[in-house]
Parts: sequence; C-alpha cells; structure tokens
Amino acid sequence: MTRVGIIGAGVSGLVAAHALRRGLGPGAGIEVFDSADRAGGLLHDATVADRRTDVGAEAFVLRRPEARDLVAELGLSADLVVPTGARPAVWAGDRLHPLPAPAWMGIPALPQAVHGLADDADITRMTVEPTRPLVWTPGGDCSLGELVADRFGPSVVARSVDPMIGGVYAALAADTGVRAATPALAALLDEGAPSLTAAIAALLPAPGAPTTPVFGALRGGYRQLIDALVESAGARLHLSAEVSRLDPAGRGWEVDGEPFDAVVVAVPAPVAARLLGVAAPDSAEALAGIATSSSAVVALAVDPATPMPEYSGVLAATGGELARQACANPAKALTLSSRKWPHYDGDASPIRLRVSFGRLDEPVVATDEELRAAAAVAMGQVCGTGVSVTVVDSVVARWPQGLPCYAPGHESRIATVFAGLPPGLAVAGSAYRGVGVPACIASARAAAATVEGHLAAL
Ligand SMILES: Cc1cc2nc3c(=O)[nH]c(=O)nc-3n(C[C@H](O)[C@H](O)[C@H](O)COP(=O)(O)OP(=O)(O)OC[C@H]3O[C@@H](n4cnc5c(N)ncnc54)[C@H](O)[C@@H]3O)c2cc1C
Repeated sequence: MTRVGIIGAGVSGLVAAHALRRGLGPGAGIEVFDSADRAGGLLHDATVADRRTDVGAEAFVLRRPEARDLVAELGLSADLVVPTGARPAVWAGDRLHPLPAPAWMGIPALPQAVHGLADDADITRMTVEPTRPLVWTPGGDCSLGELVADRFGPSVVARSVDPMIGGVYAALAADTGVRAATPALAALLDEGAPSLTAAIAALLPAPGAPTTPVFGALRGGYRQLIDALVESAGARLHLSAEVSRLDPAGRGWEVDGEPFDAVVVAVPAPVAARLLGVAAPDSAEALAGIATSSSAVVALAVDPATPMPEYSGVLAATGGELARQACANPAKALTLSSRKWPHYDGDASPIRLRVSFGRLDEPVVATDEELRAAAAVAMGQVCGTGVSVTVVDSVVARWPQGLPCYAPGHESRIATVFAGLPPGLAVAGSAYRGVGVPACIASARAAAATVEGHLAAL
C-alpha cells in the first residue's frame, strides 16, 4: 500500500490530504500528524455569547478561484456568504477616515483618495509623481514602504499602506517586499511602468466594470471547511502528535520512525526549517531566515445598544493605534462582524466584533485580561469619544508564529527552498507563495501533485 505522511493538519495539510485522496484513491494510506489536540491550525473557532465564532482567519478572498473551488468541491457552495458591502475605515489622528479609494493594497490611485488623511506635502508629492522619473531595476526588489514613501510620501505609507499590509501580513510595509507581497505591481514595474501612479491605475478595474465581492466566508465559519476536509480526506489523523524527526529511509522517509513513501511538510516556516534539517539542509537554511509575527485576536460580544459606526471595520494607522494607552500591545485592527456579515444575529443580539493585536515588530506580550480590556477600549474609541462599552462575553486566541514575513528577496528565498527538496518531499503553507487561505490551498494542491508525480515514477 502506498503511504503518504502529512505533517500539519492546518488547512494546507488537510487540503493536501484531500487532494491526495482524490488522486491516489481509497487504497492509499494517508496519515496526518498535528501537535495540537484538534485539526485546523489557524482556522479555529470558539463560543462567544452562544455563537461559534472564528477566532483565527474568518474570511477568504473570492477574486482568486481556490477557496471558491474548494468550497464547491466539498459541496458547501450553498453556505457561501459575502459581506454586506459596508466599507472599512482607517483610524488616524484619533478619528475615523474612510479607507482610501480608489486604491490597490492601500496604495492610493489619486491624491484625492487621501485628502484629509495624508499630510499636505505628500498630497503635493503624489500630484507631481507622474512627472518624476521612476528608477526600478527589472527583476529587483525593495520594500513596499520604501517604494511608496519615495513616490507618495511617508504619511501615505503610515496611514494607508501600513494599515492594509498590517491586516494581511501583521507587518509594516517597510518589512514587506514588493515582489512577494504585490507580484502584479512588481510585474508592471519590470515592464517599465513610468510612475507608481500609472502602475496603480493599470491594476485597478476599469471604471464602470462590474464589481464582484472581494471576500467570502462560510455560514458556519471555517469549522465547516475543516470538518468537510477531514471527512473527504479519509486520512488517519494523529492529534497531540508533535513530529520531531523527518529522516531519509531507503527510497522513502520516516516521520518519527514511521515509514512513508512520500511526505508533505505543512507546518509554519520555523518548524519546517527544523524538520527539514537532515532531509533538505539547503531548504531548511532558507526557511530558517523567514521571520514570523505573533498576533492575538479578541472576539467580543457587546451590548446591542452600543452606537456602532457604519463601517465594516477599522484598520489602525502606524503611530495612531487604538487603545495605545490601555495596553502594552495597542490594537491594530477591529472587525465589526455584525456590520460586515449579513448572516450575523439580528438587532436584539449582542454586537459581535474582533480586535487584533501584534505585529512583526511588536510581539504580543500583554496578558489575556489586558487584551480583553484594550479590546473594549478600542471599541469605545471607534464608537465615539466617551462611549463606554459593556462586554457580554469575550474570548482571547493567541497565534504565535501566526504569519510569515515576506521580506524583500522572499521570492528567491522560496526558489531556494523548492530547489533543495529531494524527490518524495513536498512543502505547503503560508510561508511560500501567499499567506491567505486561497494561496495555502494552491500550495497544498501543488504539493499533492508533486507527491503524486513522484509516486507514479517509483
Ligand atoms: C490572526 C490571523 C487572522 C487571519 N485571517 C485570515 C483571513 O481572514 N483570511 C485568510 O485568507 N487568511 C487569514 N490568515 C492567514 C491564514 O489563516 C493562514 O495563512 C493559514 O490558515 C495557514 O494555514 P496552514 O495550514 O499553512 O498553517 P497552520 O494553520 O499554522 O497549520 C499548521 C499546523 O501545523 C501544526 N504543527 C506545528 N508544529 C508541528 C509539529 N512539529 N508536528 C506536527 N504538527 C505541527 C500546528 O499545530 C498547526 O495545526 C490569518 C492569520 C492570522 C494569524
């Protein structure tokens, strides 16, 4: 019997198991190991005021196909929900501003998009940007912060790009490489875009083009996806099973002494670096250089009478974080789930929200109690000065090493990782070619295809 081992039962490991089951058929022995006592990794929920609530990831991008296709493949399309259409805001200068639009990854397309938000000097800088020669080496890289600060000014980075990049990568634009985080922008610069303004204009949909929802989620939260994946994979799931060794053994591999014909490593980059040390030392060394951020999410239910703003959520500008007096870790973002999702409870139910803490340069050090208190203060701030928020229930979830940092040069680092993998070993997860769930699904399907190709050639 063909035997495949998968290390990590997050969405990446489980999608790899699901894809391998489809490819290899019912006879294959697929075994998934996870150090936690549950499957799902960062896709996890908890009960907050009687409602199961996602406390890790909560949504997926619908403008790429992977999540939508997987949901359909698992027969869950009837439970696909899209947001209400309420827009997010930026918290800067102790008040709310609409998130700049039109913009791409927080990079405004026009100076008018950041009026009242960016400094006047930077608005002038944006206005003349198309007339300043743009120096870009094709194939080169720099940080997104460096690029946008040079072309549009530092206040545009701090108040428009950082909030967006922080929401996706839990890092600053200054820590994030253009090529890995915004490959479409890098491609336009490689092709000789004359200015950043021109490149952003080319990335935006044509005026009047039909708009489709950017995000989706499942009515029952990510638990629905994880349960369906576990069932469809039909794998033997080893929980509370921390893998510490991955060794070559004949034509295959041993996972803590258990033999397999092929192995998929679907764990965070620092763990993958440790596990691949013997089997793929060059890949391990490249992976060890990927920094990760720690973050925490506080999911809250508050009094339904709280005067909630019309926005779907709030992203904090750098230097203007929420609840910064209240806690060693100021809040970075707040999602007003009750505004954002139509399937949330009605008017008489508590208002539900999530407040996020932590960033690459700011690991979460505050206690759970401090985070809960800071989350309530942050909600009070966005609801209006002097609003005191009555919390009905709250849950704190911590995500150490939750997100990898895509620093400048990330793409070539990842090419080294893949080049160093011997036949029969594959990797999947957020460290490689995208941190969101759709990118993890793509990486897991690619890992499964690599394994199948290897097994077919044996
Ligand atoms: C707070 C937060 C919110 C996010 N929100 C979104 C969102 O809304 N939308 C979106 O698309 N993305 C979001 N992301 C990103 C996305 O959730 C992750 O990139 C994705 O879930 C990663 O999945 P994974 O399977 O690769 O890794 P993980 O979910 O980290 O799974 C890895 C698994 O490996 C296990 N493991 C670790 N070490 C070992 C070991 N030695 N042996 C065995 N098992 C081990 C872990 O227990 C874990 O279960 C968010 C990330 C964070 C941190």
